[in-house]
Amino acid sequence: MVRAVVGANWGDEGKGKITDMLAKEADIIIRFQGGANAGHTIVNDYGKFALHTLPSGVFYDHTTSVIGNGVALDIPRLFGEIKSIVDRGVPTPKILVSDRAQIVMPYHVLFDQYEEERLGKHSFGSTKSGIAPFYSDKYAKIGFQVSELFDEELLREKVTRVCDTKNILLEHMYHKPLLDPKELLETLHGYRDMVEPYVCDVSAFLDRAVREGKEILLEGQLGTLKDPDHGIYPMVTSSSTLAAYGAIGAGIPPYEIKKIITVCKAYSSAVGAGAFVSEIFGEEADELRRRGGDGGEFGATTGRPRRMGWFDCVASKYGCRLQGTTDVAFTVLDVLGYLEEIPVCVGYEIDGEVTTDFPVTARLERAKPVLETLPGWNCDIRGIKKYEDLPENCKKYIEFVEEKIGYPITMVSNGPGRGDIIYR
Ligand code: GDP
Repeated sequence: MVRAVVGANWGDEGKGKITDMLAKEADIIIRFQGGANAGHTIVNDYGKFALHTLPSGVFYDHTTSVIGNGVALDIPRLFGEIKSIVDRGVPTPKILVSDRAQIVMPYHVLFDQYEEERLGKHSFGSTKSGIAPFYSDKYAKIGFQVSELFDEELLREKVTRVCDTKNILLEHMYHKPLLDPKELLETLHGYRDMVEPYVCDVSAFLDRAVREGKEILLEGQLGTLKDPDHGIYPMVTSSSTLAAYGAIGAGIPPYEIKKIITVCKAYSSAVGAGAFVSEIFGEEADELRRRGGDGGEFGATTGRPRRMGWFDCVASKYGCRLQGTTDVAFTVLDVLGYLEEIPVCVGYEIDGEVTTDFPVTARLERAKPVLETLPGWNCDIRGIKKYEDLPENCKKYIEFVEEKIGYPITMVSNGPGRGDIIYR
């Protein structure tokens, strides 16, 4: 069976933890979109890890980790990451890289920096990992597929051609040093040698796996609100964050995705620019940020402090709907244990009217949160294993949220570890 683990919100919902947990029963875990721009934090028997490119299933020795064609593949970062986990005692993972995945080129990272610099105060708050320039080139059809590394003639011609184009921009638009095609070709030869042992026709591999009844997990990056079509455009990421895209970014039939586990966090956090209706500020935000996640809400890739907010029923209902949710995993609930009262955003007031439908970006910018305050449970719920054992107000919070978003919360995460989970 194929299952997808995806985010309902702005990312950082705890997908890594849920994937790592579900991977115990899985054979194959696949990354199908995004690149090394976001990170998953995982706490397990080997320690605490921040993964950017590897799927969260790499810590088991029974799983195969797959980098699908939809990923922005940064080859040196992938290999750096493999080395960093193996150095810490994790068994060398089984990894397959799609021959159709495209490569993040060194100039993508540069263009990402140069463009953010040029935009100044209008910048997107990019992590400068080269993701937007990468996907622009992919769709402009001047990207490099992994398979192309193995065709020397094609590679030489294409490197020269692409450098010509890029150098016009570098010289006249950004006034930066030009690319040297010879040097770039050498870099790509290095990439070829690194990736060669892992290259695979992933869709054919997965076709066999599906027929054999293997357990397959698709691991999404970021969340619905960062989707380029359905998110808060233009403050979005450059590849689709929806479970549906799992079919494309991995190369499996859409009807094989039987379960969509949407990870939804018990409060809100976001990185980068863009409207964030339930955002809070000052000491209230600092305290939640300090207590949030596992050791504070700071970006796994950049270390940037995340923007904080109360749970947003409007955004999460929409986030779950667009994912096609069959199950909600409600995470980091333990963090809210310090609060006497917990505000929840139950509607948006836009131009004097209250709505629970998530609006397009221009209307979203004008939205004010309609808050409802629920009583807190004011104690530590870590270590609780059964739903019935949760404090009454905690169950009320979960059931309130479930009713507002309209999708079943079947898992409640009450700590960062693999075992900190309550099934309902
Ligand atoms: P992802 O990108 O969706 O995987 O999310 P991140 O890894 O960026 O952020 C989730 C953070 O919350 C990580 O530090 C996790 O270890 C932590 N985390 C996940 N689930 C829980 C939970 O239920 N409780 C607590 N306290 N931390 C959690």
